[in-house]
Amino acid sequence: MTTETEADCLFCKIVAGDLPADVVADTDRVVAFRDIDPQAPVHVLVVPKEHHGDVSVLAAADPDLLAEVVGVADNVAHELADGQYRFIFNSGPRAGQSVFHVHGHVLAGTQLGWSPA
Ligand code: IMP
Repeated sequence: MTTETEADCLFCKIVAGDLPADVVADTDRVVAFRDIDPQAPVHVLVVPKEHHGDVSVLAAADPDLLAEVVGVADNVAHELADGQYRFIFNSGPRAGQSVFHVHGHVLAGTQLGWSPA
């Protein structure tokens, strides 16, 4: 989806300020907030304010915005942790995506394991 907002989208509501979030970064086009169910000491979601369903859609529609998302993620990882981090997108239900407004997960602050399967 490439509409700006979707009425039933959780992250559109957070972007609009209609739902609370622990915001750690906020730019013209990107917001970053702490995940409600953290999987690491630092677990932040980096979200373009405009609604796009997943990273494939965003990459095709607006690669500059995707680059901004990556830049905000890197800033957050340096500000909240030591700059060593994982940045992942779950894209599609089989990859574990549960919120269909594209978001990257910044995971940091500990030694990360590797067993996604
Ligand atoms: P996904 O599974 O990659 O789509 O990630 C969705 C993430 O959103 C999960 O890690 C959830 O814990 C997180 N989440 C769901 N609702 C909220 C919320 O209201 N605030 C912050 N994070 C949320």
